[in-house]
Amino acid sequence: MLRVFAVWPVTLAVSFCLLVAQGVMLQGAEKQPNILFVFSDDHAPQAIGAYGSKINDTPNLDRIAREGAIFQNSFCANSICGPSRACILTGKHSHKNGFLRNGNRFDGTQMTFPKLMQDAGYQTAIIGKWHLSSNPTGFNHWEILPGQGSYYNPDLIQMNGERKRYEGYCTDIITENALNWLKDKRDPDRPFMLMCQHKAPHRNWSPPPRHFSLYKGVDIAEPETLFDDYEGRSKLLKENEMSLKDHFFWGHDMKFHGDSQYPDQFRPGLANGEYRRMTDSQKAAWDAAYQPENDKFLQQMKAGKLSSKDVIRWKYQRYIKDYLRCIQAVDDGVGAMLEYLDESGLANNTIVIYSSDQGFYLGEHGWYDKRWMFEESLRMPFLIRWPGVIQPGVDAKALIQNIDYGPTFLEIAGAEIPGEMQGRSMVPMLQAQGQPSASWRDAIYYAYYENAAVHNVPVHDGVRTARYKLMFFPRTREWNLFDLEKDPQEMVSVHADPEYAEILAGMQKRYRDLRQFYDVNSAVLPATRGDEQRWRERDRVLTRNARQGNVDLAFIGDSITQGWEGRGKDVWAKHYGDRKAINLGIGGDRTEHVIWRLTHGNLGKIKPKVAVLMIGTNNTGHFDQDPSEVAAGVERILEILAQRLPETKIVLHGIFPRGADSLDAKRLNNIAINQIIRRYADGDRVHYLEIGDEFLESDGTISREIMPDQLHLSKQGYERWANALEPKLKELGL
Ligand code: CA
Repeated sequence: MLRVFAVWPVTLAVSFCLLVAQGVMLQGAEKQPNILFVFSDDHAPQAIGAYGSKINDTPNLDRIAREGAIFQNSFCANSICGPSRACILTGKHSHKNGFLRNGNRFDGTQMTFPKLMQDAGYQTAIIGKWHLSSNPTGFNHWEILPGQGSYYNPDLIQMNGERKRYEGYCTDIITENALNWLKDKRDPDRPFMLMCQHKAPHRNWSPPPRHFSLYKGVDIAEPETLFDDYEGRSKLLKENEMSLKDHFFWGHDMKFHGDSQYPDQFRPGLANGEYRRMTDSQKAAWDAAYQPENDKFLQQMKAGKLSSKDVIRWKYQRYIKDYLRCIQAVDDGVGAMLEYLDESGLANNTIVIYSSDQGFYLGEHGWYDKRWMFEESLRMPFLIRWPGVIQPGVDAKALIQNIDYGPTFLEIAGAEIPGEMQGRSMVPMLQAQGQPSASWRDAIYYAYYENAAVHNVPVHDGVRTARYKLMFFPRTREWNLFDLEKDPQEMVSVHADPEYAEILAGMQKRYRDLRQFYDVNSAVLPATRGDEQRWRERDRVLTRNARQGNVDLAFIGDSITQGWEGRGKDVWAKHYGDRKAINLGIGGDRTEHVIWRLTHGNLGKIKPKVAVLMIGTNNTGHFDQDPSEVAAGVERILEILAQRLPETKIVLHGIFPRGADSLDAKRLNNIAINQIIRRYADGDRVHYLEIGDEFLESDGTISREIMPDQLHLSKQGYERWANALEPKLKELGL
């Protein structure tokens, strides 16, 4: 049977404590207030009444804003489910908490705010979506959905590891279980921090039966950018795989049964898994709601009445209605919780927060999903009610981020905020009715790492201030700059507009400064180039070769190493042809790509006696990356090799010289890197070998005969490399 919630009336009464004098309020805060943190998945602010939604009503969420504060400039640090949650738990950016992309596993042994709240005397609980692969730590009570979880008849993993199946609708079950914990399972004498985390309104947007008829016969307003052509911005926008036009599945997203009848417009192959989970009566209710609409659409299609734009419009309506219906159940649940707080008398000393792990595209730019640093998915809702501290109706403009939640909760609890947390407590700002201090941040840093994955959004990062947004796309080395005041929909990048030259330079400085401040070094962060076909294919070949094992000598590096198969082919045959050697070089790779490859299959079953490593010149060539950062990337590779191939001796080459002469800036950068990495030699496992002189003329220039482009070796160059390397190989017993 489905659990059916009534629609709760909006309580207009302002809780009495708002009327209490300020002195008493602060005393109340000292008593360690409870925290109810309701958190949903993919709920964009533009689908919340209080944020000015033009497409739906959320009376219960709006009540939190009305009785407390709404933050208009609230952002995530990495717009994707798992990473956002990890940022919240740790108060750190993704590169510091180690959860860069979905599919990573959260290291639950690290410092998190729930653990520190436990230390401060709180009971902590999390019920609902977790999505961090490892089990929760730092919670007195938890009950979580496996992975993404299901809307219908969901399983919830219990603390003893068992899965318990609940019949009904996920949002309602999570609400009810959270309420049950509040009512019966906690110690009423201690403060609590309860995280009630919904799956909704995540894809595939399966609503509860009580909201099937919501928006029936109504057309929801379309966003202005529904037919965005992606001109005027990074060329990578066109590679997206998250458009309403091309990337909705017939079954999973659009809720048709059977195979796609229009595979050009509706992707085949992924059925509606929720339908399969339903009971017979749930299926009957579902079909009664969807079948007539589906039939009508198919009839119109068969009659040839719908243009391709009409089909996109139909998809938008199907999508947005389902999405909003899911949100309505979240709003119902929030209403139930607020009502319980009122009835139980807990409301006065309980802070209520509503947020969601990131925003979402509701057809803007022709998209669904998130990931991109554009406003719709960068923004997170943040509504907070704190009776006695925040006056009703605070409209806050400060730039806040999900890394601020942990520090805020800790200050609320009266606990110390660890220095390693990168976010800042919002408590002083909340006490000042949303007014930030002069030292509050004027820009946020954002980074997205999930390359070559579902939806094909490229790695990018950037900064946003109150008015401008700068994005950087490493693959194409493109900057995009948006003036959010003049172009709030981010349709034209002005990075090349001379009028914005000064602003671009200023924003680039903010970008570099913030990366330094947050200690972002991309040279050490594993990165795939799997979104580039040539790289993907070569990576696959290397992994396949390595799986054969039987290797004594491995060369690891970039195009200069890969070139052993090109201009160096004959030299390779002569020197290494019968020595069980493998080439693990890929052109264009930087340290971060080698880190990725070595931890994603490229070492296969090989256990070489010697590995020759030369990497880093592309970190120089692509970004002029700081030598200490590149050296840290090399060091990380050495650590991986030590871990995975403890018996292998490493010949660490100094990066070969490049450029016309001895004052070439990139050559100087490589020299500076070499000055650092030579110290990684330990006289036993790691041997540093600097052979740059082999390629230089006596005046420090590089002859075109040795390096035709002053970077890559000729056949003669490879001959010199092999000859210079040979004594070291002999010494190491090869
Ligand atoms: Ca999400």
